[in-house]
Formats: sequence, structure tokens, C-alpha cells
Amino acid sequence: MHAEPDPANRVDHDNPLESLEDWDRFLVDRYPEPGAAPAGRPAEEYRNYDRPEGDRVREFYRLNHARQTLEFVLAKKREWLAFNKRTMTPWQALEYLNTLVDDSDPDLSLSQIDHIFQTAEAIRADGHPDWFVLTGLMHDVGKVLCLFGEPQWAVVGDTFPVGCRYSDKIVYHEFFEANPDFHVPEYQTDLGIYSECCGLDNVHLSWSHDEYLYQMLKDYLPLPALYMIRYHSFYPAHKEGAYAFLMNAQDREMMPWVRKFNPYDLYSKCPVPPDVRSLRPYYEDLIAKYLPDTLQF
Ligand code: FE
Ligand code: FE
Repeated sequence: MHAEPDPANRVDHDNPLESLEDWDRFLVDRYPEPGAAPAGRPAEEYRNYDRPEGDRVREFYRLNHARQTLEFVLAKKREWLAFNKRTMTPWQALEYLNTLVDDSDPDLSLSQIDHIFQTAEAIRADGHPDWFVLTGLMHDVGKVLCLFGEPQWAVVGDTFPVGCRYSDKIVYHEFFEANPDFHVPEYQTDLGIYSECCGLDNVHLSWSHDEYLYQMLKDYLPLPALYMIRYHSFYPAHKEGAYAFLMNAQDREMMPWVRKFNPYDLYSKCPVPPDVRSLRPYYEDLIAKYLPDTLQF
């Protein structure tokens, strides 16, 4: 999935995934829903994780782990957190995200907008507060980075701290050997450039759609919502329990919210697309309650 697919050459070495959904499916396989095959996927399909998809995901992680250095993350923050690229209303941003062209079969995969509405609707159906529902709706808007030309490995993927030792709980940990930071001794102690319990706010995670959207929305949503947005891809922490020594009291208090959000993100996928037209009035009201008229990208 990338901004300008070249029909003459389907193999894009910077963007090995056919669809960003390849990564989401990998996560569901790695972290299956307790007691059930993921919604909409028969058990047999779930077990027969097809080889080419697995190879694409592996190559994606290889690039992500080799190229997300501390210097890269700092450069991306300077570039994208200036928010000087584009202005859109929140609804326009959702529609724009949905223009993400991908190489996978459109009959077999759900669009980005289907995923975010299914996530939001599942949260709403469970009776959670409205800001939680809105968080489900907005959580992946940062993926528009792909439309702005960013490579997949700098938009999605499990996030991890840079500037300190890579936890062995991170998937495909062996690929970090190719990261230049792996050979900087200062970055390879447990704490690296950080101090114990310094708080995640002071830690640079690998660059992704999470941090980008958090920085965009940080003035508008309650703290638990901001944690869900900022750390929903931080699987080494919220699923594996790694990096607890970097967390402060607030992080420890908020992490349960990130865990509460995760099943809605991973397991709400359903083959029936949501009826966005009929849902729109409710969600436009919800957006107006919390978010400004326009967002800066
Ligand atoms: Fe996401
Ligand atoms: Fe998501």
C-alpha cells in the first residue's frame, strides 16, 4: 500500500506489504482473541497463514527494524510535527484515509474506513463513553502518512523505544542487528539515553501513525483516549509487559486503557462493511463535540 503504485512494477522494495492490513492480520495471528477465531475468519483460514503474506510481513519488519534509528525518529518528528502540509476537517481526513490505494484484492479486504467504523461501533455497542467511541473512529487517521508518501515501515508496525536496548519481546528481534543504533554502545544499555521511570512522554518510540495523531489531537481528548492513540501499536509494552522500567505513575495508571482499547482494534473486523451513510450524523455530532473544525496535517 503506497501513494503511487507503479503498475509496471508491482514489487515495491520500500513497501513490501500488499496492504497495511497484512500487518493487522499478522497481529491477530500473533495475539489471537482469547477463546475464539477472529470474527469473520473461519478457523481453517486462521491456521493456514499463507506463505506469501508471511514473507511480505517478514520483509516489512526487516525494513522497520533496520531503519528506525533514533536519528530517523527525531528527523521525522521535525518534519511531520510542524503540521504544515495540509488542512482538513476531521471528516475529510477520514475520507482521505479511505483513498489509500492498495495492491490487495478489494473483494477480500476491508477499506480503512470500514476498519475505523467497525472499531468505533464495537466500542459504542459495549456502552463505553463517547470519547472512547471517538477514539476508535480517529485512531488510525495518522495512516494518511502513507498517502503523503511515507514508506509503510515508517507508518505502521509494532512501536518500540529507540535510544535504548531493544527488548527481546519485540517481534523479529533478530532484525535489529542491521540497525546502526545496535552498534552504538550508549544506546544498547537497558536505559540507554533515558533514566529509570522517566515516563513514556520522555521516550522516543519508533516513528508511526500513533505519535503523529497523538500530537495532532493532544489538546482535544481526555488522557485515556490520548494514551490509546499514542500507544496502541506499542505491543511490546501493552501485550508483552516490556519497558515497565521506563514508565512513571501516570503511565502505569493509563496502560490499562490501552489494553482495553486493543481488542476493539484487533478483533472488531467483520466482513460486512458498516453503513457509513447512516452512521455519519451520529459521528459528525461526536466529532463536533470534541474536535476543532479543521485539523492541521
Ligand atoms: Fe493503528
Ligand atoms: Fe487500527
